[in-house]
Amino acid sequence: MLAAEIIKKKRNGEQLTAEEINAFILDYTIGKIPDYQMSALLMAIYIQGMTNSETLALTKTMLHSGTIVDTSLIKGFKADKHSTGGVGDKTSLILGPIVAACGVYVPMISGRGLGHTGGTLDKLESISGFNTQIALDKFVAITKEIGLCFIGQTKEICPADKKIYALRDVTATVESLPLICASIMSKKMSEGIDGLVLDVKFGSGAFMKTADQARTLAQALMSIGQGYGKKITALLTSMNQPLGRFAGNGWEVFECLEILENKKHIGADGADMYADTRELSLQLSSEMIFQSGKYLTLEDSYNAAKHALESGEALKKFQSMCVAQSGDLKQIKLCLEKLTIRSMRSGFISEFNVEKIGIAAIQLRAGRQKTDDVLDLSSGIEFHKKLGDYTEKGTPLFTIYCERIEDSAVAAEILSMCYSVSEIQPAQKHQLIKERLT
Ligand code: URA
Repeated sequence: MLAAEIIKKKRNGEQLTAEEINAFILDYTIGKIPDYQMSALLMAIYIQGMTNSETLALTKTMLHSGTIVDTSLIKGFKADKHSTGGVGDKTSLILGPIVAACGVYVPMISGRGLGHTGGTLDKLESISGFNTQIALDKFVAITKEIGLCFIGQTKEICPADKKIYALRDVTATVESLPLICASIMSKKMSEGIDGLVLDVKFGSGAFMKTADQARTLAQALMSIGQGYGKKITALLTSMNQPLGRFAGNGWEVFECLEILENKKHIGADGADMYADTRELSLQLSSEMIFQSGKYLTLEDSYNAAKHALESGEALKKFQSMCVAQSGDLKQIKLCLEKLTIRSMRSGFISEFNVEKIGIAAIQLRAGRQKTDDVLDLSSGIEFHKKLGDYTEKGTPLFTIYCERIEDSAVAAEILSMCYSVSEIQPAQKHQLIKERLT
């Protein structure tokens, strides 16, 4: 069938066969179908959706567009975590080392920024020299030796996702349940892991705006993973405020290092601005450790994770992994040029539009507008307040770090409109983790 016929079939809301999906995706991966036809199919899928069997066929095709990593040389439980995407969401860099320090192997295949959300690979590349495109045998060797290794999709692993992911990023086709499922699960099922923990985000900064939508996505992801015989757990977590203190690649690595060094950053309200990043990292770590069966309870797994963090063992793992992947932790890209955004009213912070915060970060070139954009890995946004905090008119809410004044000006305008202040103190505290699904 012609590519245009397959696009038309999906555009008209018909179900594609596994053969049609397979042919289209594989031809796109090898360059026989151009970006403009793939973009059209992605938009048709975005609008019309896919049935469960189409989603499974898409996942399988994307998974088998490359090889599955042979991790049989690594004797021990292998686990990974994947987030559906957020702003300031940097937990992989903390939980990977924690879990490895607890004796569970973490062979992690990650992505770049997607839509308004950040990506682990971009963050890691803000560490001077850090190589995320290493050969598979080296990936396995580093994981075996150190306990963790981070790579991206390559020509060998998930090449279909490598190309489709980059295209979705700039064609407004990210927020689609079948596309998210196929993208995540094709990467994760190619890692040769035994267990997977999913951090499924909901809220204004997530692709799924409500907890119900996130639960539906979590269930779809879990059923694919279980079909492959993996242990799967999902946490539904809030993206109604950015996670932690910073968004922006180098600045997020800086935050992770501070947390791994057991530092705090006490904000204007007396609370630790790292507390939510740290707690979510520990919770996700404990789920991965618990899956391995090393501890009988989740609580004991949590305590092991906390000990690995507090004892400095996790920091040592992070440092060793950076050395093995040629990263120089003394040289993290951080821009120090600043611009402060101040509150226009006094009152309690009642809402953040976190997607807009992510869009402001893209204006600072922390994320892409076009597939070939070169990022400024040193730019970022610092958050000074969390939901429910009191703010006086004129106190800092955000600090922008960016060299180009014209970019800062656009980001500042977006940030000045991305929060609400209320005279009434919110009755409930913001809940970071809403639900656990097993
Ligand atoms: N993470 C991915 O790898 N893919 C998506 O589509 C969303 C989040």
